[in-house]
Amino acid sequence: MNYYSLNKKAPDTDFKNAVIKGLAPDRGLYFPKSITALTKSFFETIDNKTYPEIAFEAIKQFVSPEIPEPILKKIIEDTLSFNFPIVKLNEQISTLELFHGPTMAFKDVGARFMARCLAYFNQDNSNDVTVLVATSGDTGGAVANGFLGVKGVKVVILYPSGKVSDIQEKQLTTLGQNITALEVDGVFDDCQDMVKKAFLDDTITSKMQLTSANSINVARWLPQLFYFMFAYKQLHGQHDNIVFSIPSGNFGNICAGMVAQQLGLPIKHFIASNNANNVVTKFLQTEHYNPKPSVQTISNAMDVGNPSNFIRIQEIYKNDFKKLSANLSSFSYTDDQTRAALLEIYEHYNYVADPHGAVGYLGCKDYLKTNENVHCVFLETAHPTKFLDVVEDVIKTKVPLPPQIEAVMDKKKVALQISDYDGLKAFLLDSI
Ligand SMILES: *Cc1c(COP(=O)(O)O)cnc(C)c1O
Repeated sequence: MNYYSLNKKAPDTDFKNAVIKGLAPDRGLYFPKSITALTKSFFETIDNKTYPEIAFEAIKQFVSPEIPEPILKKIIEDTLSFNFPIVKLNEQISTLELFHGPTMAFKDVGARFMARCLAYFNQDNSNDVTVLVATSGDTGGAVANGFLGVKGVKVVILYPSGKVSDIQEKQLTTLGQNITALEVDGVFDDCQDMVKKAFLDDTITSKMQLTSANSINVARWLPQLFYFMFAYKQLHGQHDNIVFSIPSGNFGNICAGMVAQQLGLPIKHFIASNNANNVVTKFLQTEHYNPKPSVQTISNAMDVGNPSNFIRIQEIYKNDFKKLSANLSSFSYTDDQTRAALLEIYEHYNYVADPHGAVGYLGCKDYLKTNENVHCVFLETAHPTKFLDVVEDVIKTKVPLPPQIEAVMDKKKVALQISDYDGLKAFLLDSI
């Protein structure tokens, strides 16, 4: 599959190059040249297919021929080594649990898929790459875990000192091998700025191949379309008008859902559920897109003031506001509303959500007020123990640590402290 840059000032490229480069030379995000719908019979016979079979058919067109089919099958089987269950709260609302992977964040699937693609492209050791990633929490752990031990790939993770949870810090600082954690004296935006600066720094990029493992990278973004198909497989027949409420930050996950819809998956509507970082909610109200600096919330993986994938959503709808708003609603919620939702879900349904899932639940509730005869699925994007302080404080109950989390808690943190861009640059140039 060929990809074009959404800045339209760079040549088209293939899947391999799009993954290795991350961003196009004109700094644009890559987008597939075409999206060909799957056949009707694919969806009619989805009950007879396994998750890896569904995923294979769904993503094949985007990665062929650069990844041959037998290799793709293997990559998908390795990537999807855990489950994606639907839990029904009531007749109108379900949640799709995306937190059963090794770091208990939904980003595991994209990170594992991307790591395996890079490993394949690097099998003859001619394409050594350094993955540079800034994290506000969950991305770092998922990327570190997904890329651990992948030959020819070094991973450098920048995280803001004191601003990620203990569990998240352990997940990204205790792995060793090809993973280095840089603890930045600053906030997430400082980490992100340093990463952006490094990508534009010729003294670095002339000596090493840098790539990004954020959802701007097509190999991390596109596999997220699997989730929507897995939900459909579990629900169709019982509920046919399915609406998804997606707790959104950089809008990669929801945008992948829209690609699934383009592939023919019968999705009625999307709801972008946001915290106080509400640039898209405001856009749908006013038609004005006004990015702002992010504000800190208890659903911190969605603290994004200028969602990087929104431009891909605009491309899907060809910048047609009417078409977009017919298919997408958006609501945003305060931390107090989020806490109240956590408690409500616990008390009414005996279900422990995390703050991001709780925001998604609120999106379902608001949408259902004016839309009947639909079934709303909110995505549970992280396990509640990853936000233990908030969750236990609200529900006044201890939440047991799952084994994946337990396993990292006793390991020793290893991180290199840096305070500015020069620190990052010195580290990268030293590592060659
Ligand atoms: C990354 C993340 C999100 C936001 O996903 P986007 O694809 O950036 O919109 C939501 N919840 C959790 C727990 C996350 O880690």
